[in-house]
Amino acid sequence: MLPFTRPSIDEDTIAAVAEVLRSGWLASGPKVAQLEAELSAYLGGRPVRTQTSATAGLEMALLACGIGEGDEVITPALSFVATANVIVRVGARPVFVDVGLDSRNIDLGETEAAITPRTRAIMPVHFAGHPVDMERLYAIAQRHRLRVIEDAAHAIGSCWRGRRIGSFGDLVCFSFHPNKNMTTIEGGAISGGSAEELRAIELHRWHGQVKSGLDGFDTLLAGGKYNLSDVAAAVGLGQLRRLEEFNARRRALISRYYELWAEDAPLRLPERGDEGHSWHVFTPLLPLAQLSISRAKFMEAMKVQGIGTGVHYPAIHLFTAYRALGYREGQFPNAERIGRETVTLPLFPAMQLQDVERVVNAVNTILRGARR
Ligand SMILES: *Cc1c(COP(=O)(O)O)cnc(C)c1O
Repeated sequence: MLPFTRPSIDEDTIAAVAEVLRSGWLASGPKVAQLEAELSAYLGGRPVRTQTSATAGLEMALLACGIGEGDEVITPALSFVATANVIVRVGARPVFVDVGLDSRNIDLGETEAAITPRTRAIMPVHFAGHPVDMERLYAIAQRHRLRVIEDAAHAIGSCWRGRRIGSFGDLVCFSFHPNKNMTTIEGGAISGGSAEELRAIELHRWHGQVKSGLDGFDTLLAGGKYNLSDVAAAVGLGQLRRLEEFNARRRALISRYYELWAEDAPLRLPERGDEGHSWHVFTPLLPLAQLSISRAKFMEAMKVQGIGTGVHYPAIHLFTAYRALGYREGQFPNAERIGRETVTLPLFPAMQLQDVERVVNAVNTILRGARR
């Protein structure tokens, strides 16, 4: 069985985890400090704070910006649902805008049109690791005095015009879930932030508590509990060392997909982007209108061939929790079409070029046999 993704954990990382387990210090300690320092060095020396997930990171970033009840945050209708959920969880309103059909990234024209006096922040997603147009995004934010919280869950190692995502910008949130381009099992990191925002993130991350001397404690706010463990950080250190190699491998596999589908591709390929794209997922669209089978039947047929597939993602505004906020079908046509037609094909560093050929042959056979 070829899955659509699989993490690559090497023996050195397994040994480093065993060493932490034997050390007697398992929760946040020297390995977390080292991972934050190495991530900071990777991101041009910016401050980095790790946490238990990107979901926690995005939520703490919103809280650190003082966003809550009565505020609006502009975000794409197509993403993993966490992007919108965190906005709701802090009491603010997610204001959705559509995405580009092939870029999958937030439409910046619609973003600017959606700004109201209640807008406090923009939360874009670098979809699949394809960077948003940062010049245009930050020009809009500056014009309207908005904070930008980048959902960079897919984008560790991505570059925009040669600059790493996270090495600039306001607050940039990465995910280290096992499906992402590097993992700490579960985990995330925030890069950037003002001195006050960093202080707020540290408080929200650990009970709002500050210590002084050996026995002085104070709690400044009702914080959460989102600190990473040293066991997780040891995995992250092993992964970060190989991140450039992993991402180069993803790009090589993608080149093979695009080469084999240079002509007569039976599905619609996403925008290719440039060498700054880190290819977290490969998500073509099925031409459902020309097919006699559903997406589920296609996925089933792939499974029979021993090939795993996924869906990244259904449009967020059509979920029950978001319809309850007043969203409805027809508002964001690209996000809705992508949500219906998208299918994720295998892409991960341990995959071989022959695996790409196998996937392409299976897709070609299934889709050509299902033409109306
Ligand atoms: C994975 C993901 C998240 C959440 O990351 P976790 O670390 O699992 O909390 C947020 N946004 C997007 C776009 C994601 O893909």
